[in-house]
Amino acid sequence: MVDGQKNISADAVKIGIEDKFHYVISDSCVMCGTCSDECPVNAITQEGSKYHINPKTCIDCGTCSVVCPVGAAHRSPYIRDSISIQDIDRNKCYFNPGCALSLYKPEVPQLMLQLLHKNFGDIKLHNVCCRHNPKLEAGATIINNCAGCDRRFRSLYQGINTISYWEIIDGIADLKLPNHTGLTVSIHDSCGYRHKPQVHRAVRNLLKKMHIEIVEAEFSGTESVCCGDNFYGAVPNEQVEKRIQMRADQFPCQDVVVYCIGCARAMTASGKTPHYLPDLLFDRIAEPMPDTLDEYHSKLGDYIEIH
Ligand code: SF4
Ligand code: SF4
Repeated sequence: MVDGQKNISADAVKIGIEDKFHYVISDSCVMCGTCSDECPVNAITQEGSKYHINPKTCIDCGTCSVVCPVGAAHRSPYIRDSISIQDIDRNKCYFNPGCALSLYKPEVPQLMLQLLHKNFGDIKLHNVCCRHNPKLEAGATIINNCAGCDRRFRSLYQGINTISYWEIIDGIADLKLPNHTGLTVSIHDSCGYRHKPQVHRAVRNLLKKMHIEIVEAEFSGTESVCCGDNFYGAVPNEQVEKRIQMRADQFPCQDVVVYCIGCARAMTASGKTPHYLPDLLFDRIAEPMPDTLDEYHSKLGDYIEIH
């Protein structure tokens, strides 16, 4: 439970904390200043004998955590953990595809839902944007495709459990999956799932089950850094594009598996060949994602308004 929050046992309600993660600096900081130099949005400042991260400015890119020599920069602790598969009440269980997937690949949410119906239970579709009150019963579980949705459900709403779609799918024994022999990829782990190693494990398990070779980038899993898209609106577009290119250049492979539509767009823009995980799962040819940063965020913003 979040410090200072009352226990809420009725309907899940918005609890009004930030709908994003931010980083904090612990007492083990040795005051080297590296994180402050590297933070792309100048969120880290020295205050007396301590460095401090401004939670309102931090955009959860993960850079400070990666560059800190003593592991003193880490995620803020208020975000709730996810539920385990065995604890899910399948009568109160919903699949949330997320706005970006519904907008860019409208036929895929139904495929994902059907897979759950066939192998996991009579799961209902939840297609209310995670920025809007979900109005779900307490004790409900949301199975999330999108990392950003998962992050918001864990931080904004109390009384709702979350789990990633990838953990559920990886947990289904003997699931028949496509064979992608010959494909060698690096993996970009999304920001919203950065602090969930169980998701990283599930994604890698699934890729191996699909006979895909993996060549890890230096910064992966819990040490992953933002694809650059989180910077949109926080810094000028040219700087966002530079961060996107910087992240893309960290992958040893031309082919990069992503599990977020924004990351897929970013990889396309930087000349990589993104493989969106649901496309691999259903053996689909991925649609091109030629939208510019502005086009992507504008279309998504319009979609979010009405969902
Ligand atoms: S996570 Fe990124 S934006 Fe936030 S303080 Fe660290 S470097 Fe700055
Ligand atoms: S990089 Fe680590 S040790 Fe150096 S100032 Fe930042 S938090 Fe402190």
